[in-house]
Amino acid sequence: MAVLDIVHFGDPILKKKCNPVKRFDGIDRLLGDMFDTMYEEDGLGLAANQVGLDLHLFILDLSDIDGVENPLVIINGEITASEGESSYNEGCLSFPGIRLDINRPEVITLRYQNPNGNWETETFSDLTARVIQHEMDHVNGIMMIDRVSTLDKIKIRSELKNLEIQSNEKQKTRPTLDGYNF
Ligand SMILES: [Zn+2]
Repeated sequence: MAVLDIVHFGDPILKKKCNPVKRFDGIDRLLGDMFDTMYEEDGLGLAANQVGLDLHLFILDLSDIDGVENPLVIINGEITASEGESSYNEGCLSFPGIRLDINRPEVITLRYQNPNGNWETETFSDLTARVIQHEMDHVNGIMMIDRVSTLDKIKIRSELKNLEIQSNEKQKTRPTLDGYNF
């Protein structure tokens, strides 16, 4: 198991709709590394493209907060229904030091594949629904700042510029899929 580097704002992979996962046989090692990384960084969720991998999958673990029993792995997910709306001050491992108020539906129904490749449909609410929507946005190439007003973006302009400069340097050593058996 290994802790992977987190990709920050400025890296183009965060703007890309990720490729669907088609093979599940080599996925355990990748998921193990992603969980190691998420726990190390104190994140509630982590999408594959946040560690530089172009795959439509993400993980989350709200065991301590939202009463969800187990960590979740969401592969090739699709939100099929949603209702309600609430605002929450979100953070993101790819935007260190930045928090933004974002409106999202409160309840969602999600269709997804588990790590065995089997399809499941489940309804989520509260913070779990919010984290799932945040991570779903990631694998669809949508970032937190795409969900706020121009004024909100102007307020954090200098922080974004700094992240962008650091990202341009870090991309040269970005991890690739080479180490995983896909
Ligand atoms: Zn994020």
